[in-house]
Amino acid sequence: MTLQPCPVFIGGEWRAIHKNGSSPVFNPSRGDTIAEAPMCGSDVVDEAVEAAAAAFPAWRDTPPVERARLFFRYRQLIEENFERICRSISREHGKTLAEARGSVYRGIENVEYACGAPTLLMGDSLENLARGVDCETMHQPLGVCVGITPFNFPAMVPMWMFPLALVCGNTFVLKPSEKVPLTVVILIELLEKAGLPKGVLNIVHGGRACVDALLTHPKVKAISFVGSSPVAKYIFETGTRHGKRVQANGGAKNYIVIMPDADVPHTVEALSTAAFGCAGERCMAGSTAITVGKAADHLLPSLIEAAQAIKVGPTDIEAQPDMGPVITAQHRDRVMSLLASGEKEGARIVADGRGLKVSDAPNGFYLGATIVDGIENEMTLAREEVFGPVLNVMRMEDLDQAIEVANKSAFGNGTAIFTNSGKAAREFRNRVKAGMVGINVGVPATMAMFPFTGWDESFYGDLHIQGKEGVQFYTQQKVVTTRWLGEGVGDVWKK
Ligand code: NAD
Repeated sequence: MTLQPCPVFIGGEWRAIHKNGSSPVFNPSRGDTIAEAPMCGSDVVDEAVEAAAAAFPAWRDTPPVERARLFFRYRQLIEENFERICRSISREHGKTLAEARGSVYRGIENVEYACGAPTLLMGDSLENLARGVDCETMHQPLGVCVGITPFNFPAMVPMWMFPLALVCGNTFVLKPSEKVPLTVVILIELLEKAGLPKGVLNIVHGGRACVDALLTHPKVKAISFVGSSPVAKYIFETGTRHGKRVQANGGAKNYIVIMPDADVPHTVEALSTAAFGCAGERCMAGSTAITVGKAADHLLPSLIEAAQAIKVGPTDIEAQPDMGPVITAQHRDRVMSLLASGEKEGARIVADGRGLKVSDAPNGFYLGATIVDGIENEMTLAREEVFGPVLNVMRMEDLDQAIEVANKSAFGNGTAIFTNSGKAAREFRNRVKAGMVGINVGVPATMAMFPFTGWDESFYGDLHIQGKEGVQFYTQQKVVTTRWLGEGVGDVWKK
């Protein structure tokens, strides 16, 4: 099979890089290699950062309305190429087309938010701060910003970053995940078509060496990162040590509390989507159901039935399954070993997706929807992020116990409660330790106008991605205090 090209994009030129080796990009539905992501070293990174630095003065001086117009045109082009983008996501990541479409819409919302640049960048002013003195704030760009993104949303996560960074007047170097570097090529070809000036956005590919070169480059001002917690911590520590502004989103373990009064059909549907949507490879996946009182008895039989009914298969064909593969064979094996550790520690697998065979795609990286009951907080399966189609079930006696267990997590990304009691929901909302809370909403991932507010080990930094915090992250404030000396205007007119 001919491999798909995976070029870098530097100073407005697409180019193949061969010298430092490469990393295979799979079609997880089939298990075959579809491209090789080049491993860029510090020389290529330096070229990309220099190109972004050279493009900065002219881009900074481009009026915000003009920068916004680029993104109005871009939005239209994304709509026109929507299916092509979604098919590319399904091919390199394994998401179903429906999931890919949902994720691209989320990306488009970020472009729409960025189109508000002239309003988002407005400052404050106060006339007559003192006699004859006026004061105003301005939001100015930082310079060269960097985006380092994970495998699980090949289009959406990069789109959390570059539209807002660019519209704020910065230039950008993007390093997509080496596991899914292909969709980004389409996204940036379209941005070029919309009128992107040379050097304003650049792409490099690679792993640790490439990231290190970005984190330590003296001309890089800010770094946006999304990925696992250990890497997020490393990015934050290394980037800030080198004087960069950093926002680093990490991993998660999200708890969903189900009260005995929860509506069963609605909760089963929401839980099943939260746990098994995108094969569980979401930082907002509902990975642990904490059932309170008799909730498990009401819920589990239909939940098991729903999990066993999920059709798993290849996502690169017209007849779409309900769930696709996980990203690599290695990742599938890691999920299987976590399940084995859970069993060894006394948990019970009540819906078992491990033996799943997909006859028309025997080499794909498949795992069926799996539910594990009897989870205790000390088990490895309870504490570690699994990032696969696995739902843990923990049984608690009351809401206090449920909140206590959820709050023991090292992470703090998302959480949810299913109940018909306003009092229980209010109590949970106020006391639970997580940045994004759903009330009868299984995946409370925030939209572009709100920040993506992970807490604890789910986020390292001060200003989150998206929304007004995103604008603050990509700009620095200047406060200008003005006094004009000499004759008053009235005196001049009198002459
Ligand atoms: P990852 O941490 O392995 O990789 C993320 C990025 O970091 C990639 O571009 C990768 O090339 C780079 N990288 C990997 N190891 C590195 C190292 N040692 N040094 C420097 N750079 C390195 O994450 P992943 O497996 O691609 O993505 C899944 C993870 O991302 C999950 O933990 C998931 O929860 C998390 N995630 C978080 C959010 C959020 O908003 N909190 C959103 C999506 C995904």
